[in-house]
Amino acid sequence: MCGITGYIGYRDAYPIIINGLQRLEYRGYDSAGVVLYDGKQINLSKTKGKVSDLLNKFDAEDAKKGNVGIGHTRWATHGVPNDVNSHPHTSQSGDLVIVHNGIIENYDTIKKELINRGYTFHSDTDTEVLINLIEEVKKNNNVKLGKAVQIALNEVVGAFAIAVFDIEKPDEIVVAKLGSPIAIGIGKDNTEFFIASDASPFLEYTKDAIYLEDEEMAIIKVGRAIEIRKINDDSVVTANVQELQMNLEQIEKGGYDHFMLKEIHEQPRAITDTFRGRLLKDEAIIKMAGIEDNMKRFLNAERILIVACGTSWHAGLVAEYIFEEFARIPVEVEYASEFRYRNPIITEKDIVIAISQSGETADTLAAIKMAKSKGAFVFGVCNVVGSSISRESDAGAYTHAGPEIGVASTKAFTTQITVLTLIALRLARAKGTMSSSDFRMYLHEMELIPNKVEKLLEIDSKVEEIARKYLLSTNFLYLGRGFNFPVALEGALKLKEISYIHAEGYPAAEMKHGPIALIDDRMPVVVIATNKGHYDKVVSNIQEIKSRQGKIIAIVTEGDTVVKEIADHVIEIPDTEEALTPLLTTIPLQLLSYYIAVMRDCNVDQPRNLAKSVTVE
Ligand code: GLU
Repeated sequence: MCGITGYIGYRDAYPIIINGLQRLEYRGYDSAGVVLYDGKQINLSKTKGKVSDLLNKFDAEDAKKGNVGIGHTRWATHGVPNDVNSHPHTSQSGDLVIVHNGIIENYDTIKKELINRGYTFHSDTDTEVLINLIEEVKKNNNVKLGKAVQIALNEVVGAFAIAVFDIEKPDEIVVAKLGSPIAIGIGKDNTEFFIASDASPFLEYTKDAIYLEDEEMAIIKVGRAIEIRKINDDSVVTANVQELQMNLEQIEKGGYDHFMLKEIHEQPRAITDTFRGRLLKDEAIIKMAGIEDNMKRFLNAERILIVACGTSWHAGLVAEYIFEEFARIPVEVEYASEFRYRNPIITEKDIVIAISQSGETADTLAAIKMAKSKGAFVFGVCNVVGSSISRESDAGAYTHAGPEIGVASTKAFTTQITVLTLIALRLARAKGTMSSSDFRMYLHEMELIPNKVEKLLEIDSKVEEIARKYLLSTNFLYLGRGFNFPVALEGALKLKEISYIHAEGYPAAEMKHGPIALIDDRMPVVVIATNKGHYDKVVSNIQEIKSRQGKIIAIVTEGDTVVKEIADHVIEIPDTEEALTPLLTTIPLQLLSYYIAVMRDCNVDQPRNLAKSVTVE
């Protein structure tokens, strides 16, 4: 987590770093800081809070001068969010400055050793330990900054993306990466360089970027080509300069009040983009290179293990129902964090599908590394192109959701379901578990989904009205069955994440085994009751809620008459095949949590304690 920015070149570094931090704030936002070198000295400003707090607190023009600097927006791991723990951190001498994303696991041992050697520490962070270690190495070995960083990093255990500079050599920034992302933007003729956790901070300046690989470091010096080396063996790495496909419009709010609302509304486009070139209805085929190239492996797979965290885990659960229904392959869905630490039984016949929006989720990344070491074939489903999980996987398929900035995931979820459904359909055809007429019918229905989502988005004033009624509730229940059970979990998660209301998702039939005890006239219960699936059973569950005075918000299929009679509120979704309903039922639940959060005055895009890309375990 956390966002890093940096600049070195001929322009004023301050606005570039600050704007960059604002774009990266989705990654962490409990503290912010910036350090600039003005030609004589460094000026360091940092504070607990958001980038806006930093701007309010430090407005002295003098502190904004300089053509070189680094900045940080923090998601605390070591030490509470306060001014002192905020980054950048300086070394004991004050000469070296660092921003760091990640965790130095052996910081305590190193810290004790440095204290023995006379260092004093001001913060509780692991980062301050790292910068002092670099200083100690530099002094003892009488080496330049790059070499000192390299030696120091070989002594640490953990994950990092760092940017460091030395006021003695202010024309150079050293960056390094292991486990956390770092991108370098290259200005024309190497006259300037941009450093950031993702490319969004420098999109308006350059489209040429290098993404460092794990265990690589780079020495960035104005007027010179970037020098990239392996941290552990010092070998030189040829820079792989990529042309960025992202544009500025994609990372701006485009007239919406919040990124989350923009991203909810982008879903018809995002789902269409995810189909593009893959769902070929007229030819009645699904074309996905990652599957075609490995078809044998998929056909011989004894089971599919899906590993993911959070919302991606819910998409995995939807996929479990779909894969088993369509392709008759046994599927298990695992929390990546549990999976990797419980010595799971994995064989070479297993396929592991890793789902992660950012492609940087530390738990998922570690889980696939373990699965690979045991011979499993790993297939990644990520949104961020070139991300660590996509690179670590044997094959994969990107969701084409575009940048997702709101911390609560929306379009990433529906596009993950889209990709996974396409895979299930493709495998169903290859295995012969689905007839060609059903296959064609599904392709047809899939293609209609973006328009149906578009239509559903028109009901947002109705959802807003419902939100107003329940904004003061302290608990919510979400119920669904079959394909829509994971949607109930996702609906509850969305509400918890952004409105801080306690919510539980349950399979509707499980209600009677416990949660029904919670129902009274103050309990809103969101029930997904689409017309196919287990409609009659869900209707009975709705009756049970009604009998206990629970308030029912039902998601039904257009034209429903039965639930309308019983429920307090109904939201209609367009008709489709049951297996595809999660792509529709999810939408009103996203809107409901969005409006409740807005009305409760919560920070929708940056909910407390959360961060978008969870690069710590
Ligand atoms: N471990 C560092 C800290 O707690 C960096 C955390 C981050 O990635 O923001 O300050």
